[in-house]
Amino acid sequence: MSNVPEMFASRVFDDKVMRARLPGKVYASLRRTIDSGAALDPALADAVASAMCAWAVENGATHFTHWFQPLTGITAEKHDGFINRAPDGRVIMEFSGKELIKGEPDASSFPSGGLRATFEARGYTAWDPSSYAFIKENTLCIPTAFCSYGGEALDKKTPLLRSMEALSRQALRILRLFGDTEVKRVITNVGPEQEYFLVDREMYLKRKDLIYTGRTLFGAKPPKGQELEDHYFGAIKPRVQAYMEELNEELWKLGVLAKTEHNEVAPAQHELAPVYSSTNVATDHNQLTMEIMKKVARKHGLVCLLHEKPFAGVNGSGKHNNWSISTDTGENLLSPGETPYENARFLLFLVAVIKAVDEYQDLLRLAVATAGNDHRLGANEAPPAVLSMFLGDELSAVLDAIETDTPYAGAEKKRLKLGVDILPRFTRDTTDRNRTSPFAFTGNKFEFRMVGSGDSIACANVMINASVAEALRQFADELEAAPDFDERLHALIKEQIIAHRRIIFNGNGYDDAWIREATEERGLLNLRTTADALPRLLEQKNVDMLTGHGVFSESELRSRYEIQLENYVRTVHIEALTMEDMARREILPAVAAYSAALADGVARKKAAAPTVACGYETRLIQKLSCLADCADAAAEELGKTVAALDALSDVTEEADFVRDEVLPKMAALRAVCDEAETLTAAEYWPFPTYGDLLFGV
Ligand code: ADP
Ligand code: MG
Repeated sequence: MSNVPEMFASRVFDDKVMRARLPGKVYASLRRTIDSGAALDPALADAVASAMCAWAVENGATHFTHWFQPLTGITAEKHDGFINRAPDGRVIMEFSGKELIKGEPDASSFPSGGLRATFEARGYTAWDPSSYAFIKENTLCIPTAFCSYGGEALDKKTPLLRSMEALSRQALRILRLFGDTEVKRVITNVGPEQEYFLVDREMYLKRKDLIYTGRTLFGAKPPKGQELEDHYFGAIKPRVQAYMEELNEELWKLGVLAKTEHNEVAPAQHELAPVYSSTNVATDHNQLTMEIMKKVARKHGLVCLLHEKPFAGVNGSGKHNNWSISTDTGENLLSPGETPYENARFLLFLVAVIKAVDEYQDLLRLAVATAGNDHRLGANEAPPAVLSMFLGDELSAVLDAIETDTPYAGAEKKRLKLGVDILPRFTRDTTDRNRTSPFAFTGNKFEFRMVGSGDSIACANVMINASVAEALRQFADELEAAPDFDERLHALIKEQIIAHRRIIFNGNGYDDAWIREATEERGLLNLRTTADALPRLLEQKNVDMLTGHGVFSESELRSRYEIQLENYVRTVHIEALTMEDMARREILPAVAAYSAALADGVARKKAAAPTVACGYETRLIQKLSCLADCADAAAEELGKTVAALDALSDVTEEADFVRDEVLPKMAALRAVCDEAETLTAAEYWPFPTYGDLLFGV
């Protein structure tokens, strides 16, 4: 392999390049903008743009694009050439400050959920200097936010940046109360662990369900699945190894610090984790990672599946969103410190997160709600749709001691007095790592595990940041008004533990008994589907909180509600049509052909030996005919149901109908077809099976 440090970020206009290529004053000002989140002095834009252009052209770029994340979930780009005619008639490569700062993509076909009337097609993109520009193929990509002319956010980045600001604002108030005068900004960090499947491209191309929907809509359970759990951390196959190597190199060049790679539990499933970075950069990098994962797979004759549940009965894929809060001076606020004060501060931030998750369970759930993720959440390998938090034994014991004013063993058998006593360090408890918790504390960060593998991590982090900002705001209000800070602090932490104890659960989240306890005894929400979760976005307490912190306007929330539900409906609609098509044009003909071949066989046997019984063939023909009849009826039913869906026009009604009518009909059709698969000779089955796909690489 070539020199990694040299390769790393070689396609990124990062700090090193800026420092080398920008005039000193311009660099200093841009750096200030990046570090403080303040607006860039427009007078400097031309200087930055021309340095960027020169660097990009030297590195083979011919075009530039404003790279943004519309509400479709993927990234969008429209390429413009640097090429221009100079006054003397020759051709030059140039790029102006204006082009750097602002773009005007014809945005009429991006979803806006009613925010932008179609006649007002123009939206604009605005440069986000906090995420470095990079070169992808021959194009300089400039990370941007995407807004309507009315100023409404039409993308995922804008609310994310706003939520980071909101959290920083409130966290700074808390830090000031603890006597800190230095920190200027508080940053949220994320390291998203990305799970994915790799399947053989030739096989993939034979399955319409994978092509159209990204998941298998049919498929009987293979004789071997993941029972042996022999894939997890197992030796990586050469073809996958070659893929991972190239993927790493491509990501490194783009400045993505891809670090860990390993096999996951399911066969053909793998994981890639980068070193964490600021939430904004992590989000951009994760979008890039997903794109590059797919692209590199092609080169290796593979397809990378990012769907949350590509195979029924086999683990799905998620994204573990490792989240922490740190200061611009480099301190992790979720890390227990060295001094009593630092520990009191740690506990306050900790209970802020606990309060946030408890009070905004619904927002966290709906932030990860998609048709695909609904199949995963609550399946037996993924966190359930019920939110709860895992803190581990040690930290739970500390909270217990505070709550009940009892001596805490770790603090030499005395009552903890916050701000006086030193807490033990909560190093990550490796023996007792709870993998079933949706929101787990892992030493100095939280791991939110409900995010779907194909989704942008922006939405989840917007909700985490905003709800923690709200908890901190309430704390700051109280503490600022308190005559005795230490006393109030201690009481506040204790009150919070009592108030939000119900969200803490250190047991097995996959257990049915837990779901019962959570919903019946603890009153936690169990929003099983997207259709159940999304309406909570518009509940008054959520609207008040999100608008209160300036993260979304009310109309932006409404637009997201519409778009996310519409997406759910459209996704299932495509799946239903694909199923009907595969059943009618592939599965039923295959079953019929096999039955006919069996019947031919019977006829030939009888011709040779008239008294022969042919019991096996006859019984099989009967079973297959019966299943074919059922499949035909189920396909008919599904078709009628889809037609009824088409007749609806309100998106909320459509989503409910999808959940209550369409999905159950799809399950019914699948069940009979999968049974037919187990009885049909392999050579007649029209597409690769689960066994082929899962063990074929
Ligand atoms: P695992 O959870 O698989 O054992 P790690 O905990 O080492 O692996 O790392 C998982 C992810 O968490 C990585 O992307 C890592 O960079 C990230 N991470 C580590 N520390 C932090 C932190 N303080 N804030 C946010 N993410 C972090
Ligand atoms: Mg992890």
